[in-house]
Amino acid sequence: MTAPLIDPFQRPISYLRVSVTDRCDFRCVYCMSENMSFLPKKELLTLEELDRMCSTFIRLGVEKLRITGGEPLVRRGIMEFFRSMTRHLESGALRELTLTTNGSQLVKYADDLAAAGVRRVNMSLDTLDEDKFAKVTRWGRLPQVLKGIDAAQRAGMRVKLNAVAVKGFNEDELLTMTEWCAQRDMDLTWIEVMPMGEDISGDFRLDQYWKLTDLRAQLAQHYTLTDLPESTGGPARYVRLEETGQKIGFITPLSHNFCESCNRVRLTCTGELYMCLGQEDMADLRAPLRNNPDSDAPLEDAIRQAINLKPKGHDFDYSRQKVDGTMTRHMSHTGG
Ligand code: SAM
Ligand code: SF4
Repeated sequence: MTAPLIDPFQRPISYLRVSVTDRCDFRCVYCMSENMSFLPKKELLTLEELDRMCSTFIRLGVEKLRITGGEPLVRRGIMEFFRSMTRHLESGALRELTLTTNGSQLVKYADDLAAAGVRRVNMSLDTLDEDKFAKVTRWGRLPQVLKGIDAAQRAGMRVKLNAVAVKGFNEDELLTMTEWCAQRDMDLTWIEVMPMGEDISGDFRLDQYWKLTDLRAQLAQHYTLTDLPESTGGPARYVRLEETGQKIGFITPLSHNFCESCNRVRLTCTGELYMCLGQEDMADLRAPLRNNPDSDAPLEDAIRQAINLKPKGHDFDYSRQKVDGTMTRHMSHTGG
């Protein structure tokens, strides 16, 4: 039996997020600049390398795989990778294969994803207003994404929306988005924006946090909120709206209160393993993988060494309205 991955604080590592590309067909203002330079192809893990990497983590006890990016569905041949992970679902080693997507390619891929065993997708959508959507994503078009949601639901996948909460931008849509999701039987999670991208002056100021405690209080004026005890080992906290039955999540990525149950690590598209979203510490797993085409043992060793370095928590400090543990990576690098 291979020993499972346990970090120095006795947290089992069962959840791997994998960024399969740094590229994207959108340019969301809080995530990317308009003129991004992307990595040369040879830096990226190939699809075969991604398979080896993920299969090794699964052998070491990872049960949940979330594919992300950049936009995962713009990576060429990505369906091949999803299909290759199906064998781990079928063997029972992997309990969940899922992805986070901007939805732009779902019309094309929803059926294939469902056939590969994807049961749920997280979709990022911050506004239901076409103009605002075009503004926040720069290159995205709302109707295309809405058709993507329809396609995913038609294919039988559960869709959860993730919306970045920005004061003065989508604050006025709290109730419309909640109702819209309720009508479609979708849960909705709000993410507190991390100050990493650029500001659009006027109606989009990233330094104007819409504190999720305020958002929750606003919601409570219209609905009966019941706290849900379930924890996914991540930064999300959930309530149920009694009137609609839907789940509403709140993700405060920089709060400390979830670190003690953290069960996840993140792999970038170049094979760097980040043990904590809020720390710069990482381990290069591409070298042990590429340098040893015939054996996964050096990769396994490197993974174990990295997990041994997983920090207890991160160093952000919002208490004085400034971020002390600064983040220089964009979410498109670590995959959010
Ligand atoms: N392209 C896919 C998407 O948009 O869903 C997957 C990658 S994206 C980096 C993952 C998530 O990170 C998205 O839900 C996005 O809204 C979120 N994100 C990106 N930049 C962020 C920031 N500065 N603060 C908070 N969330 C951010
Ligand atoms: Fe692309 Fe997702 Fe970043 Fe938007 S949030 S630019 S869709 S990677």
